[in-house]
Amino acid sequence: MSSKYDVLVIGGGNAALCAAIAARRGGASVLVLEGAPKFYRGGNTRHTRNMRCAHDAATEILTGPYTEEEFWEDLLRVTGGQTDEVLARHMIRESKDILNWIVEQGVRWQPSLGGTLSLGRTNSFFLGGGRAMLNALYLTAERLGVDVEYDAEVIDLVIKDGMFLAARLKRPIKGETEIRATSLVAAAGGFEANIEWLKQYWGDAADNFLIRGTPYNRGSILKMLLDKGVQEVGDPTQCHAVAIDARAPKFDGGIITRHDSVVFGIVVNKHAQRFYDEGEDIWPKRYAIWGRLVAAQPDQIAYIIFDSTVVTSFMPTLFPPIAGQTVAELAGKLELDPAALEKTVTEFNAAVRPGTFDHTILDDCRTEGITPPKTHWARRIETPPYLAYPVRPGITFTYLGTRVTREARMLMADGKPSANMFAAGEIMAGNVLGKGYAAGMGMTIGSVFGRIAGREAARHAKN
Ligand SMILES: Cc1cc2nc3c(=O)[nH]c(=O)nc-3n(C[C@H](O)[C@H](O)[C@H](O)COP(=O)(O)OP(=O)(O)OC[C@H]3O[C@@H](n4cnc5c(N)ncnc54)[C@H](O)[C@@H]3O)c2cc1C
Repeated sequence: MSSKYDVLVIGGGNAALCAAIAARRGGASVLVLEGAPKFYRGGNTRHTRNMRCAHDAATEILTGPYTEEEFWEDLLRVTGGQTDEVLARHMIRESKDILNWIVEQGVRWQPSLGGTLSLGRTNSFFLGGGRAMLNALYLTAERLGVDVEYDAEVIDLVIKDGMFLAARLKRPIKGETEIRATSLVAAAGGFEANIEWLKQYWGDAADNFLIRGTPYNRGSILKMLLDKGVQEVGDPTQCHAVAIDARAPKFDGGIITRHDSVVFGIVVNKHAQRFYDEGEDIWPKRYAIWGRLVAAQPDQIAYIIFDSTVVTSFMPTLFPPIAGQTVAELAGKLELDPAALEKTVTEFNAAVRPGTFDHTILDDCRTEGITPPKTHWARRIETPPYLAYPVRPGITFTYLGTRVTREARMLMADGKPSANMFAAGEIMAGNVLGKGYAAGMGMTIGSVFGRIAGREAARHAKN
């Protein structure tokens, strides 16, 4: 490791590796600084399964076309219009080429997983999952001559008048050192693993949040950049948050703790009351709201209640459901008021109207006369054993970030583009995601802007 590079990339996940590879292919000398030890390299990317890219025709693994316009409409719907249209459309256009580019970097695809995801047409799944994808990217980067340093936490950035000069890093054995580079790519994730920072917006409720991914995404680089004059984008309370098993570990529980069974039952809070339409829209468009919904409930806890008829309808998770032969017995095991849960289930069952169940479409199985309604996939909960999953908010990643241009170049607070600082991935996701989410977009943002950031960083350095 020399102390002067053309391009310094901070982070070790998808966005960082796409940037590093693109920069190296652009002729630059590149150093990647990954704060985590080698075994834990790759941040949240390790946990991923798929990516959403536009394509005009079916492919070997995608069942049909997903046009730029349809992608844009999906993004518009999930964000409620809170997106930068120029950047978002640019990303969507570039995503078409990423499907091939990422394969050229050694990543392989596999057909979509089944269950409630319904992603076979829109999302490409990584063969072997996110960790296999990362291994392929690291291998390619290293073969191309990218230097990678693990256990290398960046603790300070030297920035003068919007120009990056050097990074100070801390290494457990080799100690502190300074690295200079002509260009910087910041790809160090959001601040989701920083509970104290989350508490600034969520108060003590954040103590009950579980963080689905890496404990290393503490937002330190984001904070340094914002403190040193980079323009921020996004609402700090907005994030991707799903309902995950309350028995999951505090960090890094990954995908196997996520529950996709909401549409097959009802969800109640600690008072055994329903609080939201469990059948509002198809699951890939709704799964990412349930973390926030549970966060708004007392003690940030909720319970998905269903019966034995649906147990094989969704992807199983790490934790078995809690079972009772009666609703009251189940309530006792969940430490809920048995009479209250019985009342809620009885009222729900009475409100269910006849219909033809089909979880892949917005079917006509709905309730009538209760609040909140269940507008699709409503079926009576009446076949013992009765089952439940306790769930808590599982924070995936935060949206507060650095504002960037189409070239992934950071904008400074005064509106001027930085001379040599670029950003990609979660750290700038808020440019595209003002709120909401559609499955697979995290990796699209990282890959598209990572590739652009690396290319532009190299171009700057070589000029
Ligand atoms: C359980 C789970 C499942 C997911 N599934 C999907 C999916 O299927 N599809 C999808 O599109 N998205 C998914 N996501 C979201 C996706 O993981 C992220 O959007 C994406 O991986 C972000 O990539 P990134 O490179 O920006 O960040 P990360 O991959 O998180 O990488 C950030 C890196 O920065 C490093 N770092 C942080 N601070 C420092 C510092 N000070 N110095 C040096 N290094 C630092 C970290 O160690 C880490 O390696 C999932 C997330 C989780 C948690």
